[in-house]
Amino acid sequence: GETIGILGGGQLGRMIAVAAAQLGYRCHVYAPEADSVAAEVCAEFTCAAWDDADAMGRFAAACAVVTYEFENVPVASLAALGETPLLASPLALETAQDRLNEKRFVAALGGRPAPFAPVDNAADLAAAISAIGLPGILKTRRDGYDGKGQWRIMTAADAEGLDLPGVPLVYEGFVSFFAEFSVILCRGGDGEIRFFDSAHNVHEGGILSVSTVPAPARLLEQVPAARDLAASVAQALDYVGVLTLEFFATDEGPVFNEMAPRVHNSGHWTIEGAVTSQFENHVRAICGLPLGDTRLAAKAVEMRNLIGDEAHEWPEILADPVNRLHLYGKGDARPGRKMGHVTRLTLD
Ligand code: ATP
Ligand code: MG
Ligand code: MG
Repeated sequence: GETIGILGGGQLGRMIAVAAAQLGYRCHVYAPEADSVAAEVCAEFTCAAWDDADAMGRFAAACAVVTYEFENVPVASLAALGETPLLASPLALETAQDRLNEKRFVAALGGRPAPFAPVDNAADLAAAISAIGLPGILKTRRDGYDGKGQWRIMTAADAEGLDLPGVPLVYEGFVSFFAEFSVILCRGGDGEIRFFDSAHNVHEGGILSVSTVPAPARLLEQVPAARDLAASVAQALDYVGVLTLEFFATDEGPVFNEMAPRVHNSGHWTIEGAVTSQFENHVRAICGLPLGDTRLAAKAVEMRNLIGDEAHEWPEILADPVNRLHLYGKGDARPGRKMGHVTRLTLD
């Protein structure tokens, strides 16, 4: 079969590759780190820096299509892909790499983010706090994930005591939400959009802990408006593949948190819990195949992340036959590191 190129070497790439293999495709991973858990399940691996134009050019020449599992690939290095299409799109990557651009982009489409202001120095921060108020969260514009690169500011003293990291930041007001959820959609090359059920997501310490489907009724009420926004984002980006938007459910309706131009942790439940998984639908979309049904395939599904040491619980997890275990093959179970996940279906 044809070869799909994947930029990024983590577990999302690994799960894309497994889905691609089921459909008869080969995958070729490109990543700067040698210990790639995606490369382990792929036919080929190029380990090279993002800005190695020769390596990226050879990689692209060997692929029918290129996608990414990591949204922080430097956009300038994508020129080396030449004629090989990059899907979803370079514009989607560029937009989602920068929290400030992303918030402005989504707000221009009618989305409602938390109040925000760019911060490049202490004076900006003081101005942002007086305009937006406390509490708030200061976030790096680029490169953050799993709550890294974020500082919660509860009081003026917190702000004064902060050593700013010297990179562009954004301050946002703290949203008082009753729940968090995500909209995950897949858009085909012909513009068809299919939505997965929205999971109720619970985070702990800034990291996704549990995703549950179906979400409670109070949260589900907010899904149609959130889906409309997500569809507008996908259309505006001429998006092909899986796109995720995270939301806070508030008494005033859904507040946009952030987007991920890719498959998402809060969609891992779809591997067993949906007729077609997010990974398979992403592959179908970027390869020009018809999209699969996204409907829930059980009464309920719960996905729990295995973070750090929790991965060592695998013998107990497997002892319950209902649990479906996914381990990503990472050697080092550092605190806060996503090592795997476990999915439970409720069938009756
Ligand atoms: P991800 O791994 O999802 O990309 P991230 O590092 O980009 O994470 P965010 O999604 O910005 O982080 O924030 C992580 C979590 O912190 C959110 O899911 C939410 O629980 C909390 N949080 C972030 N921003 C706010 C906010 N403005 N108000 C309230 N809670 C927030
Ligand atoms: Mg994020
Ligand atoms: Mg997030």
